[in-house]
Amino acid sequence: RQEQYRALRDLPSVTRDGVGIALQLNAGLLVDLSHLNETGAEGVGLFRTELQFMVAERMPSAAEQQSLYEAVFAAAGDLPVTIRTLDIGGDKILPYMKALEEENPALGWRAIRIGLDRPGLLRMQLRALLKAAGGRPLKIMFPMVATVDEFIRAKAIVDREKAHLARHGRPLPSDCRLGVMVEVPSLLFQMDEIAAAADFLSVGSNDLMQFLFAVDRENRQVANRFDPLCAAALRAFGLIAERAQAAGTPVTVCGEIGGRPLEAMALIGLGYRALSMSPASIGPVKAMVLSLDAAKIGAFLRDELAKTSDGASLRPALAAYAEAH
Ligand code: PEP
Ligand code: MG
Repeated sequence: RQEQYRALRDLPSVTRDGVGIALQLNAGLLVDLSHLNETGAEGVGLFRTELQFMVAERMPSAAEQQSLYEAVFAAAGDLPVTIRTLDIGGDKILPYMKALEEENPALGWRAIRIGLDRPGLLRMQLRALLKAAGGRPLKIMFPMVATVDEFIRAKAIVDREKAHLARHGRPLPSDCRLGVMVEVPSLLFQMDEIAAAADFLSVGSNDLMQFLFAVDRENRQVANRFDPLCAAALRAFGLIAERAQAAGTPVTVCGEIGGRPLEAMALIGLGYRALSMSPASIGPVKAMVLSLDAAKIGAFLRDELAKTSDGASLRPALAAYAEAH
């Protein structure tokens, strides 16, 4: 199997009916970048910056942050890298940062909420990123955004940092794109506004499913109570893809779901054309893409979603489709 997947490395990721599906990597440490070459991935769709903070014994300095980002950009070469700002809190605890006592950490003070309430940390990270990018393009996205206003405020902080660097005669990124993780369900009801405000969107299916179904992503007792291929979940993913496309805003899926071939097939059927996943998933997902007809799976999925009467999982139907095609 591994050998077979390796043989696919240099083949373009295109469906049988000629639809390009960009397959990108999820990464968090510098060593993960070595998988770019190994897998033939088209860049890093999600770089989780909190990893550097989680493995450190103390808060990484501005210089340490900048040097990691420089090394990541150097390792990626001309391939794009989407950097996510610190996603701490919830299940991601920094041993050296005093944690709040919270009844519900998953719903608590975390990610962009910390960034906006204590902008010092976010500002330091953004400055490190802008400096590391130098004159090359830069893509930054913000985690756990629940309202359009939070994104607008985060964007203002980026603008301030850019102005600061410009005043000091430092080069700015040739192209600086700011995106939003779609992982809090409130964004489903602000899709047009967030798609208009952001340069790109990336669906964090791990958290989106957790919050949509009120099912703790780490709790095995409840994890199997719903299927991400049930009608409700597929409609949520479909709505995001459709509204993003209507606005002309690029959209990716970077949660674990994009790395499973059957789920990835469904996402392509819903209109997604870019998926970011762990390195081991690239081969199996690419093999699926090469054997898929994107228009046909789209029509099949629309039919199945229209005729379901109980909202049950479409997994059996999708598995049968995959088997037959
Ligand atoms: C997600 O929530 O789907 C995601 C990609 O982010 P993380 O798993 O880091 O929360
Ligand atoms: Mg998340």
